[in-house]
Amino acid sequence: MYDIEQIRADFPILGRTVYGKPLVYLDNGATTQKPRQVVEAITEEYYNTNANVHRGVHFLSQQATELHEASRETVRRFIGARSTNEVVFTRGTTESINLLASTFCQSQMQAGDEVIVTTMEHHSNIVPWQLQAMQRGIVVRVVPMNDRGELLPGEYEKLFSPKTKIVSLAHVSNVLGTVNPVRELIRTAHAHGVPVLVDGAQSIPHMPVNVQELDADFYVFSGHKVYGPTGVGVLYGKENWLDRLPPYQGGGEMIQHVSFERTTFNELPFKFEAGTPDYIGTTGLARALDYVSALGMDSIAAHEHDLTQYALQRLREIPGMRIFGEAAERGGVISFLVGDIHHFDMGTLLDRLGIAVRTGHHCAQPLMSRLGIEGTVRASFGLYNTREEVDVLVAGIDRVRKMF
Ligand code: PMP
Repeated sequence: MYDIEQIRADFPILGRTVYGKPLVYLDNGATTQKPRQVVEAITEEYYNTNANVHRGVHFLSQQATELHEASRETVRRFIGARSTNEVVFTRGTTESINLLASTFCQSQMQAGDEVIVTTMEHHSNIVPWQLQAMQRGIVVRVVPMNDRGELLPGEYEKLFSPKTKIVSLAHVSNVLGTVNPVRELIRTAHAHGVPVLVDGAQSIPHMPVNVQELDADFYVFSGHKVYGPTGVGVLYGKENWLDRLPPYQGGGEMIQHVSFERTTFNELPFKFEAGTPDYIGTTGLARALDYVSALGMDSIAAHEHDLTQYALQRLREIPGMRIFGEAAERGGVISFLVGDIHHFDMGTLLDRLGIAVRTGHHCAQPLMSRLGIEGTVRASFGLYNTREEVDVLVAGIDRVRKMF
């Protein structure tokens, strides 16, 4: 069963205090804490197996390579990909989207062609496309949403034209918590012959995801948001798509043969992995995925759903509370403002009580302008948070409210 005390004991940092108060960590949307199992796997590899991968004939290099490729298999299984050829290691969600935007636009789009994104995207799923718009004259179209923070399927469908070449959207909003109906959105895009990139940064840590069931053409996420290390992430892509895209960066590993006259490229997934990969990071990521798999993604989702429902109910009791994001399907991200208290003041005062929340625009300024605000306070849950912590948050907010 879901033994929260035992789970929390795996995360040493949760036992610390800040300003003499027990830490209440509610900034999991930004990054998650790491269980002992992940940190120990990283230490163990540095101490006992460290050597550069893929190139050495010697024992350690081969062992490090086996570990690295076993991590790729762990990712493949976790997301339900057909083949490890479809699992490209990157630095994270941001690099995955930049890789895709750059190589896809270069090879599949011409000036005037269109990409569809949504109002609720993180900057990392807006700006890479805007860079392509500046360089190649592609056009960015935006799916609107209603006041509850749900995309409008009818408006989405209307955006498609023969110029539409790709759709790129978040599975779960990092501000509103909205869980977008990606399966249906993908079906609509495919009916127009258009592939879809799903930004899974806020979904992979919180719910079971199977890329084949979703029929996503590309799916991206970051290791550090799913209890793994920083600096490593994933770009999943259907093999027939990845095969059609040119390399992103040049360097070692991504080539088959180099001469000054003609260079040929390596096969998938190495074509997209120039240079020494973060092979220690991939080990950490694989252990993190093992960790959440052992708990069960369904159990994690159920635990966080319970916590979110409880938090929403308790937060709504606070006078002056405004919650942004009331979608029918929502995850454990809660953005709010109380009365006219500035989000920064609220965050700073909560911090003094040991409560870590995020404040500001959450890298989603277009969404903030749609909501007509500058920023929010955001509490975001992880697998180790408790109802008691929600109570501390609610009491903290109420205390701040009374000070103003
Ligand atoms: N997309 C979403 C929805 C996110 O929440 C984030 C991180 N806040 C990112 C992309 C970017 O992730 P990273 O900084 O790990 O590349």
